[in-house]
Amino acid sequence: MFESLQDRLGNAFQKFKGQKQLTEDNVKEGLREVRLALLEADVNFKVVKQFVDQVKERALGEEVMKGLDPSQQIVKVVNDELVELLGGEQQGVDVKARPLKLMMVGLQGSGKTTSSGKLALYLRKNHGKKPYLVPADVYRPAAIDQLTTLARQLDVPVYPSTTDMNPVDICKDALVKAEEQGCDLVLFDTAGRLHIDEKLMDELENIKKECSPQEILFVADAMTGQDAVTVAEAFNEKLDISGVVLTKMDGDARGGAALSIKSVTGKSVKFVGVGEKLSELELFHPDRIASRILG
Ligand code: GDP
Repeated sequence: MFESLQDRLGNAFQKFKGQKQLTEDNVKEGLREVRLALLEADVNFKVVKQFVDQVKERALGEEVMKGLDPSQQIVKVVNDELVELLGGEQQGVDVKARPLKLMMVGLQGSGKTTSSGKLALYLRKNHGKKPYLVPADVYRPAAIDQLTTLARQLDVPVYPSTTDMNPVDICKDALVKAEEQGCDLVLFDTAGRLHIDEKLMDELENIKKECSPQEILFVADAMTGQDAVTVAEAFNEKLDISGVVLTKMDGDARGGAALSIKSVTGKSVKFVGVGEKLSELELFHPDRIASRILG
């Protein structure tokens, strides 16, 4: 995760070693490297520009921080700005609601079904929630089977969806069934297509309208970089998502999606998937990630 960015930024900061102070010239030169490092990490170019301008302004405007040499100062400014870029404060989900209704949306293959299982496990383990899983993708029988298998592995109830049912009806009825079974966390695993599709978006909007989920989590494959950001924008426009689950971070050495998605969509990454196993889900901590990037 972020390995290449870490290396490149390390090189950029080398330029400040041995300098007496931050000047227009050395900041400009050092930031040229930072800019290239971010572009190489597949960060959205507008985001990169904004980021570099912001760092420059702060680095040159800042009172000399006592006890920090110029290279430490620039690292501190970049660190603070990276935390902001990654979303600032850590954002989880508010678990108080009963039932807590989470709607998972995203393209096919992004990791929705796996993330539904992971969140069920995470919220049961950490918050004592009683999950109920709802397969709402009736277009692919394999999707229903996959979630049903995960439910069995986790030993949690699952709605008996079939391919001849209507997804909106499934979700509405699932709320009744979940309550009957004493469950206080309902996870709707909705359908995804290979591309954004109006009919599907309308269906998702209807599920949202009928079931009023507290959270609509957009699931994105981190390895798809800027494509993930573009798709997030489209889902956000239609559904007003509440946050993002970024999957396959274990395979993403660049980090472009993680670094751009908040800035472009205004919505934070809440969780990251870091492996195929159900336990491999983590809260997304902007400050820890920034520290990791800066080594
Ligand atoms: P869906 O079509 O959106 O429901 O996607 P799936 O949940 O079926 O996931 C697609 C593939 O990605 C499966 O092979 C998952 O095991 C894999 N996957 C999901 N999340 C992660 C992750 O965080 N890391 C890795 N390495 N693989 C993941």
